[in-house]
Amino acid sequence: MLKPLEQYYCDTCGEIIESVDEGYVEWISGNEDPENNKSKYSIHSFRIIHDGSISPLKPKDRNGCFKFNRTYGQSSVSLNTFFNPDTKYLYLNYMLHPGKFSYPDLDQTLVRSITEYVEFIKRLTIPYYEQGRLFFQKALEDELIERTDEYNLHKPEFLKWLIDRYEN
Ligand SMILES: [Zn+2]
Repeated sequence: MLKPLEQYYCDTCGEIIESVDEGYVEWISGNEDPENNKSKYSIHSFRIIHDGSISPLKPKDRNGCFKFNRTYGQSSVSLNTFFNPDTKYLYLNYMLHPGKFSYPDLDQTLVRSITEYVEFIKRLTIPYYEQGRLFFQKALEDELIERTDEYNLHKPEFLKWLIDRYEN
């Protein structure tokens, strides 16, 4: 079982990231149309991946598990940024809204897809979600959960029970 809020599955290679110090988060930020600087600015495509030097892909690919290295607007920070008390809320909030002090007239979120963003935040904040979410479809097929069980799917004790049941 993954250690909750400490170990993650890499979105590129699928292998386990052993600790938040060995992970990175990458995403795309910038104008939707790079040719037009008045186009909407947005943030999207959040991915949790191995740090460059630790990536199992590094021997074969100098980008390691980074997918957006050559993409316009590629942004990244260490995964532990989202666990450090000095920086975690800065990033989590900034992606939603950069702040009313600097942007008093902005009354919309920067993230392109709120559904994608919330899923990303759940992985970073709900114990056992990272692994438990992999078994939602199976549990649905086995009639252990229903489509209306959204609340249960965020309870750490339920997620842990689900992992225990399906892990092996
Ligand atoms: Zn990886």
